[in-house]
Amino acid sequence: HAKQERRGSVQFFHEELNTKMLERSRLEQELQQALENGEFELYYQPKVEAASGRVAGVEALLRWHHPRLGLLSGGQFMQAAVETGQVVPIGEWVIAAACEQARSWQYSSKGFPNLPIAVNISIPQLYADLPEVIHRALLRCDVPPSSLQLEITESLLIEDVDKASSVLRQISDSGITIAIDDFGTGYSSLSVLKSLPIDILKIDQSFVRDLGKDLGDHAIVSAIVMMARALALRVVAEGVETQEQLDILQELGCDEHQGYFYSKPLPATTLVERFMQTSDA
Ligand code: C2E
Ligand code: MG
Ligand code: MG
Ligand code: MG
Repeated sequence: HAKQERRGSVQFFHEELNTKMLERSRLEQELQQALENGEFELYYQPKVEAASGRVAGVEALLRWHHPRLGLLSGGQFMQAAVETGQVVPIGEWVIAAACEQARSWQYSSKGFPNLPIAVNISIPQLYADLPEVIHRALLRCDVPPSSLQLEITESLLIEDVDKASSVLRQISDSGITIAIDDFGTGYSSLSVLKSLPIDILKIDQSFVRDLGKDLGDHAIVSAIVMMARALALRVVAEGVETQEQLDILQELGCDEHQGYFYSKPLPATTLVERFMQTSDA
C-alpha cells in the first residue's frame, strides 16, 4: 500500500514537472516574439538618499506586457531569458531604453535631469560586447556615462571574477558606476570586493525584511555598512517596506533606501508625477 502511495506521488511530481516544462518552452518562444512585438517596458523605482530625503537615482526594472498572462515582472521571466541566451538582445533593449529615458529627462523641466538610471545586467551580457553596447547607446542618445549605473548580482558575479573584472574595469573606466546587487547572498570575500571596480553595495532584501525582529540580520547589515565605509563604497538597502526598517537603516548609516515604503517600480510618467523635482525648485 505504501508503495502504491509513493508511486502515486512520483506520478504527480512528473505531471507537475511536465506542465512546468511545457509552460517554460512556451515562455521561451514567446520571449523571442516579445522584443519584436514591443511588449517590454521599463518601470522605475526610486532610490532615496538618507541624508537629504531626495531621489538620488532610479532603478530600471523590466516588465513584460504578456498577451496571454498580463503584466509580468522580471522575477517571473528573467531566469528563462538568461538560460536561453535571450537576455543578451533583451538586455541590449533595456540599455537603449534606459538611455532614451535619461535623454528625455535631461531635456525636460518635468523630469529628473542628471538622475542616474541603474540597469540590471546578467553575466552573459558581460561577454557579448557590453562596453561597446553601452557606448553606442550613450552616443546615440547623447547622454553622459554618469546617467547610467549597472547592477550585477553578487552570487553570479563571483563565479567568474577574473573574466568579469576586466570587462567591468573597461566599463568603470568609461565613467559608469557599478553596483553589486543582492549583496550578502553570494559569499564574496573581501579580496574579491577589493579587486572589482565597484562603487555601490546593495544589501539584499532578505537581510532587511526582519530588521527589528532578527538580531542576526541587524548584525549583518551593520557589518556590511561598516565594511562598505572602510572600502569607500556607497550602501543601498533594498526591500525597505516599513518605517521601522527605515529607522534602523538610518541609524546604521545606510546611504540610500529603496523599497515599497517609498514606491513600487512605476511607469516613467507615473514616477515623474509622484516624485517630480522641478529644475527650479
Ligand atoms: P533586483 O535587481 O534585486 O530587483 C529587486 C526586485 O525586488 C524587483 O523585482 C523589485 O520589484 C522588487 N522590490 C523592490 N522593492 C521591494 C520591496 O520593498 N519589497 C519586495 N518584496 N520587493 C521589492 P522584479 O522587478 O521582479 O525583478 C526581479 C529581478 O529580475 C531583479 O532583482 C533583477 O535581478 C532581475 N531583472 C529585472 N529587470 C531586469 C533587466 O532589465 N535585466 C536583467 N538582466 N535583469 C533584470
Ligand atoms: Mg537590481
Ligand atoms: Mg536586488
Ligand atoms: Mg534580486
